[in-house]
Amino acid sequence: MTDFKVPFIDLALRYQEEREEILACIDRVLSKGHLVLTEEVNEFEADVVRYTGARHCISMNSGTDALMIGMWAMGIGKGDEVITPPVSFVASTGSIAHIGAVPVYADVKDDQTIDPAEIEKRITPRTRAIMPVHWVGRIADMDAIRDIAKRHNIKIIEDAAQSMGAYYKGKHGGTFGDAGAVSAHPLKNLNALGDGGFLLTDDDEIAHKARLYRNHGLESRDNCAFYGVNSRLDVLNAEVLKFRLTRLKGVIDQRRRNANIYRKIIKPGHVQIPEEKSHEVVSYVMFITQADDRDRLQKFLAERGVQTLVYYGTALHLHKAAASLGYKRGDFPMAERQCDRVLALPHMQYLSEDQVAYAAELVNKFYGV
Ligand SMILES: *Cc1c(COP(=O)(O)O)cnc(C)c1O
Repeated sequence: MTDFKVPFIDLALRYQEEREEILACIDRVLSKGHLVLTEEVNEFEADVVRYTGARHCISMNSGTDALMIGMWAMGIGKGDEVITPPVSFVASTGSIAHIGAVPVYADVKDDQTIDPAEIEKRITPRTRAIMPVHWVGRIADMDAIRDIAKRHNIKIIEDAAQSMGAYYKGKHGGTFGDAGAVSAHPLKNLNALGDGGFLLTDDDEIAHKARLYRNHGLESRDNCAFYGVNSRLDVLNAEVLKFRLTRLKGVIDQRRRNANIYRKIIKPGHVQIPEEKSHEVVSYVMFITQADDRDRLQKFLAERGVQTLVYYGTALHLHKAAASLGYKRGDFPMAERQCDRVLALPHMQYLSEDQVAYAAELVNKFYGV
């Protein structure tokens, strides 16, 4: 629970709303007494296939594992370069580094997705893949990115962690590349009771390899084809996610409604809100603005009961972990400027229109407009 009048997130409210259904999920699963890779897991995967239009869904422990296992299944590894934006959660870059590949950054556009023109400049003979990030649930410019990948014969692994329920030209996030990795982390729109994730792909071979890899490489109990890892989705979470998938559209519709209230009320000039283009449906895992005098605005809002978050304040190439990659401040001006100005406003599905309007009007008040 939170003391804010307009809280950013409140997962306890979610439990209040769904208590009966969630407890029924737990009861169903525990009563059966089978807790590893059961039919509930298969059913959840089949539901995701129906929802997204992907050919295969392979559920896993987390979105990060889905990124790593997806790239591994594509044959990406030591010394290969993967191009990715400096605006994301660290797991995008981290997953590339962890499989032994080299993260190569390309700057973003003003809507915070990777800039196809910048991707072109970073391609070398060692480039094996592009990892666009569908940040906040806005799909990157996949027509242009697919065109680049085709011309250079390189693969695409989508960081679709935030893009359940997000569309580009009517096509669901995570279904544009060779594979897409989705997260069911508690802060995503489709969220498990803890960690969870899944890989989407149309490629039978990637699907087959990833499915084995997430379960120790076991083809059967006594037949290990290769050494994999344990990255199975918990059965309890599969059952909860099955239920929550039926509520996902409602969650996103509320978040989109709240985003539109901000759009209507906040006066242009000091705060930029990326427009939603006619070919895109943004799922708004976060509602991100770019604000003048960001830190003072955040303090002003907090003092008046509005909780906001800087999502994130440091571009990925400027983290200590990235030191060996050899980048410096100034290399990605768009990303750096955005990190200095970014402010995520509260827009979760449990906020009333009045709460959102209150926050939006305070933003205008801060700038005296
Ligand atoms: C949440 C997130 C991840 C990581 O997903 P986990 O399920 O937490 O491992 C990766 N990339 C982006 C863009 C994310 O938002």
